[in-house]
Amino acid sequence: MLILGSHVSFGTRQLLGSAEEAYSYGANTFMFYTGAPQNTIRKSIDFDLLKEADTFMKEHGILKEYVICHAPYIINLANKTDLSKWDFSIQFLKQELKRCDELGIRFLVLHPGSAVGLPREEALQNIVDALNHVLETPYHTKILLETMAGKGTECGTTLEEMKFLLEHVHHEVGVCLDTCHLNDSGISISSFDSYLDSFEREIGLDKIGCVHVNDSKNLLGSHKDRHENIGYGTIGFENLLHVCYHDKLKDVPKILETPYVGNTWEDKEKIYPPYRFEIQMIQTKTFDTKLLEHIKEYYNK
Ligand code: FE
Ligand code: FE
Ligand code: ZN
Repeated sequence: MLILGSHVSFGTRQLLGSAEEAYSYGANTFMFYTGAPQNTIRKSIDFDLLKEADTFMKEHGILKEYVICHAPYIINLANKTDLSKWDFSIQFLKQELKRCDELGIRFLVLHPGSAVGLPREEALQNIVDALNHVLETPYHTKILLETMAGKGTECGTTLEEMKFLLEHVHHEVGVCLDTCHLNDSGISISSFDSYLDSFEREIGLDKIGCVHVNDSKNLLGSHKDRHENIGYGTIGFENLLHVCYHDKLKDVPKILETPYVGNTWEDKEKIYPPYRFEIQMIQTKTFDTKLLEHIKEYYNK
């Protein structure tokens, strides 16, 4: 079965609100941030709402075992030039894992970090040290390191770097593939099978816990990281479908993180979520050449 959902919000009604939003898109899973991705302001878990959310998911075909949480971007384990900042990242990651445990969420996606002024090897070692420290405490939730586009000084942009991280962390961590990031890092999704073969050989397919399915606004190897709506970017609909329906990734949840759309594709104000329509395109394997019109029509009703 195709396990497919999108990024949804985690508002005042917490996981219940997220699950309802996912259901409204026709999804059977979803990904959320426990607060704004850019900051670390977090509310504590409301267990009454959580109970309701669990019931809602059971009754509406949402597979909680495949629901993903994403850690905020400001966690940076790669640079410890400012020790207090590094320590803050570590403490915050611990809290995030604890929150996920309380929510009963199995996977937490994390950006490995940015080297900033450091040599790559040193940055990678800092990530390893941080994760080894954080994971001294056992959590039910598993960290998935996301493959990055290589924007700025991002680490985790090549198979070699991912392999290094996974080999040197003494605890079970996995990987989240992001199709836009792979494209922007220089790996063509049109030869996804050969990438997956290398991944299988070097790291192991059992490590893949999630796939972010996004098109890209930029060319192969651009190191930009700007997501585009499914089928409207440089990767293309057929290549993304191939990833979604890949035999070797059957039990891996696919999550859309494509941009909201406004009055034109270039609008600064993105107002409508595209997910209901993109999910439908993927489920029916049919590209909608009038996606924007259909989204606007639906939300302007
Ligand atoms: Fe991410
Ligand atoms: Fe992503
Ligand atoms: Zn991205």
